Amino acid sequence: MSSVKLANAIASPLLCAAPEAGMFSHLLANFDGLVYRCLVDSNWTMQFISDGCLALTGYEPEDFIANAAVSYEDLIHPDHRQHVRQVVHAALQRHERINLEYQIVRRDGTVRWVWERATGIKDMHGVYIALEGFIQDITQRKQAEQALHEAEQRYRSIVENAVEGIFQSTPDKGYLAVNPALARIYGYDSPQQMIDHLRDIDSQLYVDPQRRAEFLRCMAEHDGVINFESQVYQRNGNVIWISENARNVRGPDHAVQFFEGSVIDITERKIYEAQIRHQATHDALTGLPNRNLLHDRLQQAMANAQRNNHIAAVAFIDLDQFKFINDSLGHQVGDELLKVVGQRLRSCMRAADTVARQGGDEFVIVLDNHRSCETVTDIVRRMIALVAEPWLAKGLELQVTCSVGVSVFPNDGRDVETLLRNADSAMYKAKELGRNTFQYFSAEMNLHATQRLEVLNSLRYALAHDEFMLHYQPKVQLATGRVIGAEALIRWHSTTRGLVSPGHFIPLAEESGLIIPIGEWVLRAACAQNMAWQRAGHAPLPIAVNLSPRQLARDDIVDLVADALQSTGLDPRYLELEITENDVMRDVDKSLATLIRLKELGVKIAIDDFGTGYSSLNYLKRFPVDTLKIDRSFVNDIATDADDAAIVKAVISLAHILNLDVVAEGVETDEQRRFLVENGCDEVQGYYFGRPMPVQEFAGACFHPGHA
Ligand code: C2E
Ligand code: MG
Ligand code: MG
Repeated sequence: MSSVKLANAIASPLLCAAPEAGMFSHLLANFDGLVYRCLVDSNWTMQFISDGCLALTGYEPEDFIANAAVSYEDLIHPDHRQHVRQVVHAALQRHERINLEYQIVRRDGTVRWVWERATGIKDMHGVYIALEGFIQDITQRKQAEQALHEAEQRYRSIVENAVEGIFQSTPDKGYLAVNPALARIYGYDSPQQMIDHLRDIDSQLYVDPQRRAEFLRCMAEHDGVINFESQVYQRNGNVIWISENARNVRGPDHAVQFFEGSVIDITERKIYEAQIRHQATHDALTGLPNRNLLHDRLQQAMANAQRNNHIAAVAFIDLDQFKFINDSLGHQVGDELLKVVGQRLRSCMRAADTVARQGGDEFVIVLDNHRSCETVTDIVRRMIALVAEPWLAKGLELQVTCSVGVSVFPNDGRDVETLLRNADSAMYKAKELGRNTFQYFSAEMNLHATQRLEVLNSLRYALAHDEFMLHYQPKVQLATGRVIGAEALIRWHSTTRGLVSPGHFIPLAEESGLIIPIGEWVLRAACAQNMAWQRAGHAPLPIAVNLSPRQLARDDIVDLVADALQSTGLDPRYLELEITENDVMRDVDKSLATLIRLKELGVKIAIDDFGTGYSSLNYLKRFPVDTLKIDRSFVNDIATDADDAAIVKAVISLAHILNLDVVAEGVETDEQRRFLVENGCDEVQGYYFGRPMPVQEFAGACFHPGHA
């Protein structure tokens, strides 16, 4: 039954005696609140009001009937009277139910919140004349709501004003909610802007995707993270460091609904920590690693050297005139000098090497992963020369030199202390030797280093003073015994050393780069000689010239060969270039391109020392090669070593299959010759047929008709 019908039933005196009346009054007595019927007038004049009236208002029902003692209008809190009237009239106009909350002032003066629901009652003309409804005390609920609202306001204020960033997020949907502080930390104008923009946290926020993966893993495994540090991008792309705490928020089914946590910006702390770390491991004046870091690096270098079977070297450097400069020109100049020296030392090193300041005017260098002492010596020499270059201080041009001691791992020591001590004592030897120089700790290495330097100097001298010459070794056709070519082999007739064979200086020339001018000289001299013989009326012979790896690697090698041919007028088919297989294999594509261009000039190409390198059949087929020269080491033992014999046979067959000429090098005996004849080798070269000979001798022996 609706409340309207109920109210009608109660309001109608005729119905009061009806059998349900007892039930209604019972119901009404238990009803928490009051039921009423009032007129739509300025006092809301009550026609009926139930007993609940007393408990709700403090007045008896009779007090209200016909406004006997008080009107309902008066009961309504003055602040709410107008509102109540407006709501009622608006509802009646729309023919809707009235539903409103407002305050009343009880008889005892206390103020209560009430909830009223009512319906308008029309007269026979359809005009609303009365209201029927009920009113209940909702003060408690209102207070609870108010308390809740205030509590929410308080929390909101904490979150909104927190300096920490606070968030709720999910692994796939981005941020659900963030506070202004987090938006600020990540460089956004507002939380909403950040939520709209940051849709893919994994890639948009985290600098290292691995770190985000680690975060998700921790959330899954430990249900949260504490002080989890990562680098993130701000909106403008800047990178900052953050530390976050987060936990999983689970639903009733225990499934994770979202993450909730807080973030602080720890960039400044990180920078500070890095500074502290740097200060602990670096020298304040020069910015170079200090003694502590030096020890670590040296330890590392030793481990690297051990692993790669290389060497590591320690160079101890002491400035020769530091004390004098410091005392006479002052500490400021002294400091400046140390900085300049530090920079200069650094500029000589590779990135992997360490330049450290040991203290005072002492520097230590760790050279990591060098194959041999040669490169170490080169660096130390460069370093000494660079330190000795003049520099300006207080308008003066000053010059200092340094003395350097070098110890080498593993020869001179297997631990940090020993290596440093030995480098230090080598440095004192360098001082004794007159300063501005270096010494290895071991006598043997010193000898090697000095000899090397002397040979390099003499080689430069040799180039400038025409000390090189070419010898020619005949190549003989086995079938006929005729000389069908020659190989030009360099000889060095040094004024100080006598005749030096190429095995002694070619590797050094190669390493130092001197091979480039030397090789060019050989090429031009061999072409010129060949032309000279032809002009003298000898039958033309192809002459082979050895090309070094460095020459082959140069972009201008083809131009150089072309120029040598053109300037001497030699027909290209009388020039053969010998290259070793390893040179070619170093950069296959580049070599192939170079060889093709050389071939286009019309010269021949031979693979020298074949069998000692790593040629693959595949490349042999692709390369424009004319001849294979079987290395001397195989030929040497063909008569006694079955393996070598087998290899030589195999190479001969291979050459024939690939349609290449094959030359056996280093044939010294008749036995070897016979073996080669039997196995179909085309050509031979070796002492048995002729040693490398000076020009005159070669002409006399090899062009003489009937010699072969
Ligand atoms: P290679 O090109 O394999 O030259 C052959 C070497 O074997 C020459 O040594 C030659 O004298 C030697 N030889 C020839 N027949 C015999 C023999 O029957 N028995 C023995 N025991 N040795 C024999 P050489 O002249 O000392 O040259 C050595 C290497 O130096 C050459 O090996 C070549 O790689 C290089 N070389 C020589 N001249 C030049 C040059 O002008 N430029 C370049 N880049 N390298 C050169
Ligand atoms: Mg050769
Ligand atoms: Mg050879």
